[in-house]
Amino acid sequence: MRNFTKNFAWAIVALIAIALVFSFLNSTGTPTRTISLNDLAAKITNGQIKDIKVSGDAINVTLTDDSKAVAKKEDGSSLTETFRNLGVEPNALQQVNFEVASESGIQFWAGILVPTLLPILLIGFIFWIMFRQARTGANQAFSFGRSGIKLGGLGKEKYTFADVAGLKEAKEELIEIVDFLKTPQKFLDLGAKIPRGVLMVGPPGSGKTLLARAVAGEAGVPFFHISASEFVEMFVGVGASRTRDAFQTAKKAAPAILFIDEIDAVGRQRGTGMGGGNDEREQTLNQILVEMDGFERDTQLIVLAATNRPDVLDPALLRPGRFDRHVVLDLPDINDREAILKIHARGKPLKEGVDLRRIAVRTPGFSGADLANLINEAAILTARQNKKEIELQELFNAVEKVILGPERRSRFISQKEREITAYHEGGHALVAASVIGADPVHKISIVSRGMAGGYTMKLPLEDRHLRTKTQFLADIAMALGGFVSEELTFGDVSTGASNDLKEATALARKLVTRYGMSALGPLTFGKDEMHPFLGREISGDKDYSEDTARRIDQEVRAFIDRANVVAHKVLTSNKKALKVLAAALMEKETLEQEEFNEILKPFKIKPVAI
Ligand code: ADP
Ligand code: MG
Ligand code: ZN
Repeated sequence: MRNFTKNFAWAIVALIAIALVFSFLNSTGTPTRTISLNDLAAKITNGQIKDIKVSGDAINVTLTDDSKAVAKKEDGSSLTETFRNLGVEPNALQQVNFEVASESGIQFWAGILVPTLLPILLIGFIFWIMFRQARTGANQAFSFGRSGIKLGGLGKEKYTFADVAGLKEAKEELIEIVDFLKTPQKFLDLGAKIPRGVLMVGPPGSGKTLLARAVAGEAGVPFFHISASEFVEMFVGVGASRTRDAFQTAKKAAPAILFIDEIDAVGRQRGTGMGGGNDEREQTLNQILVEMDGFERDTQLIVLAATNRPDVLDPALLRPGRFDRHVVLDLPDINDREAILKIHARGKPLKEGVDLRRIAVRTPGFSGADLANLINEAAILTARQNKKEIELQELFNAVEKVILGPERRSRFISQKEREITAYHEGGHALVAASVIGADPVHKISIVSRGMAGGYTMKLPLEDRHLRTKTQFLADIAMALGGFVSEELTFGDVSTGASNDLKEATALARKLVTRYGMSALGPLTFGKDEMHPFLGREISGDKDYSEDTARRIDQEVRAFIDRANVVAHKVLTSNKKALKVLAAALMEKETLEQEEFNEILKPFKIKPVAI
């Protein structure tokens, strides 16, 4: 539509230009007066006329005083006759220099054609514009069936494995693919089949897209990128044809990589009947299966697909000859985090002596994308303070910004609320400092951020893959620390603890139903898996009796009660320390690990077992 208005405006401009040109052509330059034929005849008789030029209907007159005038001839009559009729003496007429200019051919034709042709041309022009509009519109409609596949990689930004930090196992698996693409003959000679599909599994931001690009970059082949959700947008019934088109385009360019992002958008198990557009998804999925099966033995197109939900994929997608290779991308551990930070700090001025390891320590659970975002935030914070180099403080602030959203210092908090928050966070921290098995406190703050009123950051000493029952129980006790502290100090509790309680309860339930850590013994209850990537439960079948359900509830309650007792014990026996801690928090708002340890030192807190 914008196109149309633009063309229309151009047409108007063109018209005005044409009109201007013609008005210039018609004007003779100097303004001349017009006289009637009678007048002219009288002037001839009086001998006032020097010469007369006739061209067409126009009579251009030059008077004896050299002034000019024009008159108009009668149609179809001879000029001399006209003058005679008007009573001009023949010898007076002879004094005048007569000249009849025959109209030039161009002028003559222009006189006839311009008035007739111009409107026709104009109308034609307008029609042409309208047709053009209609045609592009139609083209757009027809192209909906096309894949809208994007070519990236070659020519554009080229990534290699050097741009991908960590992910060692994933890279090792994919090096094989790079080899296939570089020297296919080596494998074909041995009768080996070239792999077709590789499924990359990992949480959002773990670098799936990046790694796929890097494979193309390493092999030096074109990289085609399409998101599965694009297959099924806009119109019903285009998913299958888009799929076909995407594969065709990529196959033509082989050796190449075709990357299908978010394949779970179409690759969900068929026949589950969840959500609308099910048929559309199924057709698209079927088409993908057909395309994957239609590869020649030596087709050098490798399809990489990415998902964070491998469990929902249709088993047919995962069968041999389709996406039979799986590459798992985990969240980075501390060393990888440091490496990723280093990659993204390239080209950004870090202050001398800034140790990115210290940032890596504080960012367990961050994905590669989070870390890239963190460095960027730090650069923005630095620029906002008109500094030239990124310092450690900006990086620390960026960590918190990424975790918790921007600081909200401006939110008004009453003195009472600050006091409650200080005792609440102090409670968490004190329990963490006393209970054996708890992670050390890195930072306490009562500055509200995002949705949290305040926070206590505890971090494991090293990235751990295994956790013990003692550690879990310490976690639960620490989670209850805020609640218990409020209760002991004010004799009342606030809503600030609700999230803590939710977490504590969920953890206690997991000890019973997942980890076999309760009196119910080494069994799991319920089929609902804790989702490895989404980090939340998907409800599933209840595979235990009502009686067991009651006993699970009892066990969960027992864990919470036990943690509650320990938290009470710690906080009642360290009332003085809690008070000093809360006061320090109200004064400084934020305490770093060293400051926290310094405050607690004089109290010689006794470790408590849980
Ligand atoms: P995904 O596709 O898994 O959601 P992306 O590949 O889009 O994640 O990653 C997003 C961004 O995060 C990348 O563009 C890159 O800047 C950064 N990133 C993620 N993982 C890594 C890594 N291992 N090394 C370097 N940068 C990474
Ligand atoms: Mg991605
Ligand atoms: Zn809390």
